Amino acid sequence: MTRHIRTPASGAFATRPAQFEHANPPDQDRAREAAKALFARLGGDAAKLRDLIERAGLTLDDPRLGCLRAAVEGAGGGVVGEDAFCATMSEAEAGLIGRLADGDLAIANFPVFKTRVAGLFDYAAGADWGEMRSAIPALAKRDPDAFAMGVCSIDGQRFRIGLRDGDEKTDFSLQSVMKAVNYGVALELVGTELYHRHVGREPSGQGYNEITLDERKRPHNPMLNAGAIITCSMIHPTWQVEARHDFVSRIWRAGAGGAEAGFARDIYESEASGSDRNYALSYFMREHGCFPEGSDLHEALDLYIRCCSIESDVDRLSAMAATLANGGVCPLTERHVFSRQTVRHVLSLMLTCGMYDFSGEFAFQVGLPAKSGVSGALMIVVPGVAGFAVYSPRLGPKGNSVRGVEFSRRLVEAFPWHVYAPVMVDPDLARPDSAKA
Ligand code: GLN
Repeated sequence: MTRHIRTPASGAFATRPAQFEHANPPDQDRAREAAKALFARLGGDAAKLRDLIERAGLTLDDPRLGCLRAAVEGAGGGVVGEDAFCATMSEAEAGLIGRLADGDLAIANFPVFKTRVAGLFDYAAGADWGEMRSAIPALAKRDPDAFAMGVCSIDGQRFRIGLRDGDEKTDFSLQSVMKAVNYGVALELVGTELYHRHVGREPSGQGYNEITLDERKRPHNPMLNAGAIITCSMIHPTWQVEARHDFVSRIWRAGAGGAEAGFARDIYESEASGSDRNYALSYFMREHGCFPEGSDLHEALDLYIRCCSIESDVDRLSAMAATLANGGVCPLTERHVFSRQTVRHVLSLMLTCGMYDFSGEFAFQVGLPAKSGVSGALMIVVPGVAGFAVYSPRLGPKGNSVRGVEFSRRLVEAFPWHVYAPVMVDPDLARPDSAKA
């Protein structure tokens, strides 16, 4: 598996171009040749084909495997005919199945990977301390003991696990996790230069809702409440707030694997009726001229609270993390959600500012870009490899999910994914003659 793991320190991200990107129109003859070669290699046993797919961490309902699904389902568990197998197979689908058969997906040995990750999850379950500390009453009513984890590789291999039955399907509001996504949205809309005239990119060293600005009177960064409210003021400021909310939800959906974005109305209403701190912060920012011209404080704040209440489960959140890991192309929908440049900016600020005033410690211990939310949600990005999502609402003193942080620590002990992991490898030990020493 390790041969597929590349870290930023060892060179370019191992992002692949989207499978649908054809320089020329798809070539039917070539697709048919590729499909026939695959059929000769894999045979038509429907059960074996299903097993091959599932062992690799994919499922037959994956939209990228449409032709194979039709063929296997049509065979009703029996034998798939060559014609059905090749009927509508595109080059992209044949390419994906071919790489899967070669063990050449981002995570080559998925069964072993699953076992190891499930072990880390079990360890992290033991970190069952922490409190629900949200000022949002509806959020504080969520089950504090839920614990779930999901992972999605840059090839769309997926796995999720819950501590108790059903935990893995629990929906939760994204809260501050959405700040990272919205930052990407705003960069795409207004560009880096204009965006950062209004919001800095330094950690503040202070709590996420602190009433404070940098020396140029800007919020310190997009990952804190102040910066995230200004981010919202830059997302289509002339539109109605409902349309702006829909726009953000659509981008979320495209990046999170295509399933509808949920909305926790109770949490939205609860926060909207008691957001004194965020109002205070917004008026303070308006006094200092932080809002871009043409934007409205109340609408920006409303959009901000709506975005915090967008709902996900670990499946969808891990897919969004995988989109970032994959340079902005969602591995499942194959949609270009963000440019590579935007992704690089988002990941940089997730690494330095994504965990509030615990970001330095998290970068030290874990060395991966991550973003947490006060609901207990956490997304962790392993660039060029995979995205992880954790949900566990008990929070530590800095407002991050206790089990989420514990899981992250274990993850980089088990896999060489800390940004500086490459320096841990002693080159002498890797030389063939080192055994003689
Ligand atoms: N909605 C929350 C707030 O504005 C989000 C904060 C968070 O997740 N840290 O306070």
